[in-house]
Amino acid sequence: MATQQAIQVVLASRPATPRASLENFRVETVSMPVPSAGQVLVRIDTLSLDPYMRGRMNDSKSYAKPAEIGQPMPGESVATVLESSSPEFVPGDIVLVQAGWRSHAALDAKGLKKLAVEGFNASAYLGVLGMPGFTAWSGLEVIGKPKAGETLVVGAATGPVGSLVGQLAKHKGLRAVGIAGGEKKCAYLLDELGFDAAIDHRLPNFADELRSACPDGIDVYFENIGDAVWNAVVPLLNQYARVPVCGLMAQLSGKLSHDTSKDYLAQTMRAVLTRSLQIRGFINYEFTEQYFDAFIREVSALLREGKIKHIEDVTVGLENAPQAFLDMLDGRNFGKVLVQVSA
Ligand code: NDP
Repeated sequence: MATQQAIQVVLASRPATPRASLENFRVETVSMPVPSAGQVLVRIDTLSLDPYMRGRMNDSKSYAKPAEIGQPMPGESVATVLESSSPEFVPGDIVLVQAGWRSHAALDAKGLKKLAVEGFNASAYLGVLGMPGFTAWSGLEVIGKPKAGETLVVGAATGPVGSLVGQLAKHKGLRAVGIAGGEKKCAYLLDELGFDAAIDHRLPNFADELRSACPDGIDVYFENIGDAVWNAVVPLLNQYARVPVCGLMAQLSGKLSHDTSKDYLAQTMRAVLTRSLQIRGFINYEFTEQYFDAFIREVSALLREGKIKHIEDVTVGLENAPQAFLDMLDGRNFGKVLVQVSA
């Protein structure tokens, strides 16, 4: 058969600078994996690219182990079962797998999740109905505790996390202010997603624009960015504001603003104290057991009713995954970043 080979993208080297580059990845052709007893052979259909992968490229202590040099980059995918020695799966089943940046994988059947697709594209389970969607929902609900009439601000607002945070906030009666890079993304927030205001973080007067967009201050700041955006947010936080700290894109992209020499810690801690702020970091899976079902119920219903929109930014070909990943870190994506691995 012509398809006896598989491809994979491995971590070739760890980034020597804050910015990752194409040299840190290598595309390899390998033999087709052979499943052993109790395993299934899957073909990866769609791979999800997510910001956390940048953290895994470093050899530093974190909530998850670093990727290993010479091994496939980690990642979640939607896949099709090709062969199965497990009674639980048959060829043709669509499954959600943690198989990394690979075209094929032999995986233990135990722990594989069959997708009941229910009228949605399978890829939605990598975005709005998957890990990023759950991150948005759980961070907002559990830590953000949104209340009608309040003001919420979220960065990376056109991405799968930020876009859902803002739309859920609107459904709950909050004023939603989105931060995004560039006019096109800001227009999308206003015209398509119904945000009340959208501010381009690249504007030289960004902090002033944000202040004008939040005349009553900020009650929930869903932190996706850090750095200059955080500095602009701190003075606007209201008494008892809640800050779910979800991610720090400015650090992952390796493009911190020029004034990093200035120490904002004192200002931040003073705001925490004097305004009784609640700042709470989280990794989505700490909430899975308790809240995942509630999330799927609420968000799938809103999607079905057309009350929530989501966009996918699809790159074709696994060999193009490294460039698509670097583009996402630089904000050149528009929506959930996916790689179509097989046609
Ligand atoms: P996105 O698809 O939104 O991609 C990241 C976006 O970050 C880019 O498109 C860019 O958008 C923005 N960005 C990058 N650098 C900067 C910068 N210096 N300043 C401002 N914006 C920047 O990603 P996701 O929706 O998948 O993830 C959003 C956030 O959620 C990330 O911080 C991620 O780490 C976090 N996350 C956390 C999880 C958790 O469990 N805690 C789980 C999943 C995600 P733009 O062009 O608009 O600037």
